[in-house]
Amino acid sequence: MTKCLYCPHHCDISEGSTGRCAMYTSSNNEIIERYPDHWLVVTPVCVDHSFCSWMAKGKIPSD
Ligand code: SF4
Repeated sequence: MTKCLYCPHHCDISEGSTGRCAMYTSSNNEIIERYPDHWLVVTPVCVDHSFCSWMAKGKIPSD
């Protein structure tokens, strides 16, 4: 059993099975993502307006 600590459920996951969310599994006593680099949604959220403006123009400042 390996305990997943990615969220408050703290699932105990046995080798090869998944936690409650079915997004993580246990392999060699490590918690790993079942679908790494897969995104569920992409949303247009911007924290820094100036950086997002540069991104929208396809340019990132060099300094
Ligand atoms: S396996 Fe999923 S539901 Fe369980 S603790 Fe990890 S992230 Fe949370």
